[in-house]
Amino acid sequence: MIEIIKDLCTGCGICTKGCPFGLIELKEKKVFIKEGCNFCGACVDKCKELAIKVKTEEIKFDTSNFSGTWVFIEQAESKLKGVGLELLGEGRRLSDELKTKLTAVLLGKKVKELAQALIESGADEVLVYDSPALSYYSDETYAEIFTKLIFERRPEIVLIGATPIGRSLGPRLAARLRTGLTADCTELKIDEEKRLVQIRPAFGGNIMAAIISKKRPQIATVRPRVMKPLPPNKQRKGKIIEIIENLSSIKPKVKRLDFIKESASGPGIEEVDIIVSGGRGLKAQENFKLLEELASLLGGAVGSSRACVDSNWISHLHQVGQTGKTVSPKLYIACGISGAIQHIAGMRGSDCIIAINKDPSAPIFDIATYGIIGDLFEIVPLLIKEIGKRQ
Ligand SMILES: Cc1cc2nc3c(=O)[nH]c(=O)nc-3n(C[C@H](O)[C@H](O)[C@H](O)COP(=O)(O)OP(=O)(O)OC[C@H]3O[C@@H](n4cnc5c(N)ncnc54)[C@H](O)[C@@H]3O)c2cc1C
Repeated sequence: MIEIIKDLCTGCGICTKGCPFGLIELKEKKVFIKEGCNFCGACVDKCKELAIKVKTEEIKFDTSNFSGTWVFIEQAESKLKGVGLELLGEGRRLSDELKTKLTAVLLGKKVKELAQALIESGADEVLVYDSPALSYYSDETYAEIFTKLIFERRPEIVLIGATPIGRSLGPRLAARLRTGLTADCTELKIDEEKRLVQIRPAFGGNIMAAIISKKRPQIATVRPRVMKPLPPNKQRKGKIIEIIENLSSIKPKVKRLDFIKESASGPGIEEVDIIVSGGRGLKAQENFKLLEELASLLGGAVGSSRACVDSNWISHLHQVGQTGKTVSPKLYIACGISGAIQHIAGMRGSDCIIAINKDPSAPIFDIATYGIIGDLFEIVPLLIKEIGKRQ
């Protein structure tokens, strides 16, 4: 907190101009901090009388009785989503380093039979809560059950997919448990003090921030397709623990009336091996037809930069990048995309990148496996013609 030492304050008012948020006021020649102060300390440097101090208090949190890594397993209609298996692969690595247990947490209706696959994918144990009441995801019900399980069993790390469900569940857990959460991590590490280092892009993707939480559990969300799943091992053995809870005390305020699936035109970009992606260089919505033709010849899907989504040329379901989807296909063809850091964040994991751009200094060429300097309206039709001939 900010402390004003009244005896030293002369009421000069210099500090009022030093607050970037205009939250310091002068009343009867004394300084007062208004509500909303974020304790940045900018005012401290302004005061020549040393009348302003930032008071910090080290909060000691007992981390010793937390152990194990948990992974929230997302499923829909009794089918596992890929992100849970990817996080089990990463969780296995973290647990091996910490020499602790890896637990998969599986909630839903008719999900018991999925537990074995989670053990084969790296889990030491699976906590299964199989109930007709969990037939679809509900924030309140899932958050309540998950919080109770964490409270009773005290894992030190909880990993959740940065999907619409995970992004809704994670903060609810963190708030209920009064702990921290790092969203959209791209890398996880264990430091020498056995803490989880949660690495994610910050300031519009211009720097990578390494975040450490002092509290437990350390909760992190990770986007789909960022981590790699382990190859399934049928020989792996593990424990399946069925949870029985009385849900009658949970009274969700939201009820699902219907479920309407939004569909991208053609296959989803996360599901395919080849993506043909378009940027502002396409110039108009109708020119995406050219990319659709190439993608369909190659058995792939159409992706896009945010510039085209913002111009309403294509739906957000196709957007690749920091605020779109993270993809790692075998082949990514970037047509008329400059290669902004926020776009690259979502596709740099592709095995092979072909960039088509008429500007030889476009940053996309820095990460491209093959670069074609030229007009996409000449090159893409040539590719369509050649590939068409070979097929
Ligand atoms: C917080 C934040 C999050 C963001 N998230 C994302 C994100 O998730 N995904 C994303 O893509 N962007 C994102 N952006 C936007 C990003 O910074 C860029 O503005 C965007 O990626 C630019 O899109 P573009 O490459 O299509 O367009 P431009 O940067 O305008 O590039 C167009 C390119 O097309 C080339 N070109 C033009 N005509 C032709 C032609 N006939 N033939 C060949 N080449 C041609 C040009 O030389 C140029 O390099 C984000 C920005 C911020 C601040």
